[in-house]
Amino acid sequence: MNGQVLGPKRYYILTYGCQMNVYDSEVLSGYLESMGYIPANSEEDADVLIINTCAVRQKAEEKVLSKLGKLRSFKKRNPEMLLVLWGCMMQQKGFAEKISNKYKFIDLIGGPHSLQRFPQLLEKAQTSSKTLIDTSIEGEKEHPHIKRGHSFKAWIPISHGCNNFCTYCVVPYVRGPEISRSPAKIIQEVKELSKKGYKEITLLGQNVNSYGKDLKEDVDFADLLQHLDGIEGLFRIRYMTSHPRDFNDRIIDIIANGEKICEHFHLPVQSGSNKILKLMNRGYTRDYYLELIDKIRSRVANCSITSDIIVGFPGEKEKDFKDTLDLMQKVQFDAAYIFIYSPRKGTKALEMAGQVSPEIKKERIKELNKIQSIISLNKNRDLLGTKQEILVEEKSKTNPNMLTGRTRTNKIVHVSSNGNLLGKLVDVEITEAKSWTLTGKCLS
Ligand code: SAM
Ligand code: SF4
Repeated sequence: MNGQVLGPKRYYILTYGCQMNVYDSEVLSGYLESMGYIPANSEEDADVLIINTCAVRQKAEEKVLSKLGKLRSFKKRNPEMLLVLWGCMMQQKGFAEKISNKYKFIDLIGGPHSLQRFPQLLEKAQTSSKTLIDTSIEGEKEHPHIKRGHSFKAWIPISHGCNNFCTYCVVPYVRGPEISRSPAKIIQEVKELSKKGYKEITLLGQNVNSYGKDLKEDVDFADLLQHLDGIEGLFRIRYMTSHPRDFNDRIIDIIANGEKICEHFHLPVQSGSNKILKLMNRGYTRDYYLELIDKIRSRVANCSITSDIIVGFPGEKEKDFKDTLDLMQKVQFDAAYIFIYSPRKGTKALEMAGQVSPEIKKERIKELNKIQSIISLNKNRDLLGTKQEILVEEKSKTNPNMLTGRTRTNKIVHVSSNGNLLGKLVDVEITEAKSWTLTGKCLS
């Protein structure tokens, strides 16, 4: 093995981070397959090994750095293997140069903007004696090749980058300013996927509901949703991530009256304290957020609402933390992803006074997770005995006799395997509820 097998060369991509990175890896796979590569079964078996990195939190970076030793041993065993570090972590100022000085065995380093240049870069890297680096922020965002990871659910970026500059976040620095894709291209892609029988399409962007602000055409996120909802076919539409500040009444109405748009609202609140929200530069207050949630619940029946929360942001005092606890109790999220604030180079929050100790951050995340698991359990118990449509996505990771799918409200449901249901929309009755998962029995 290890590159000595005859036949087509093999690639393996390890992806960290958000769905946009998953999409970028699909594009990289598309380029590689257009060059004649085929997927490898494991990292060791690959002729080209790509690590697609994330920079949002320190932990994601540590995972990649701890992997580099293993990459060195791969290269020792198979000097022909091409090692590629890709993605947001590499886009940070001075990072690629630092890595290439320390880990000289890396062949190629590229950022999210270099995707379209990937085939040429890979070819050049094969003969280059030192690490080839391309982290220029210039780059075409449309790609002629993509190898989708699934045959029934797909990601479609509607915008790239972000203009919001939340003070804790590296995304605007590594992904650049917001650029919306043309509505015609998005509509065309959705039509093609619907024709191929795709059952779920997720629209991607850092802030999907500011879609269109940079376009000449008079089109916004609500218009786009309305248009996509009218496309023929049996498929669901999801979107991520939406910003509470830009979630207007028209979007809510279009979702309420739409047929395909799922009744799941992921609205990252980040904090329940007005003081912290201001320091974070989020552009809304807790009262605005609470009113938005009321509005959504009053117009969209049986919807689910989930959120992201950061604990231990600089300046977060006990009172601010209690405000977040109180907001969680008031809103009763279906689920919340709770993160410990991670200081990021180049962001404003890094320089702020009142950094919170690791011990307090840990206590706070523990408390919020405990409360959220009780809220989620109660919410899920309300679904016992109800009928839900799920898209069956995969075999259960813990029980080979079960399949796993998601409701329109994005809840995970395990069902006993009954024929070949993978990739199908099926109705189930909910029979068991836990905090993070449901169990159901098939009705059809
Ligand atoms: N654009 C989306 C938004 O505004 O909600 C989210 C994108 S971000 C990659 C996903 C989540 O990571 C954020 O909602 C936030 O909770 C979290 N996050 C971002 N930067 C962080 C940091 N420095 N420390 C901890 N969590 C962070
Ligand atoms: Fe980061 Fe804020 Fe942009 Fe989301 S909206 S990507 S949290 S800067």
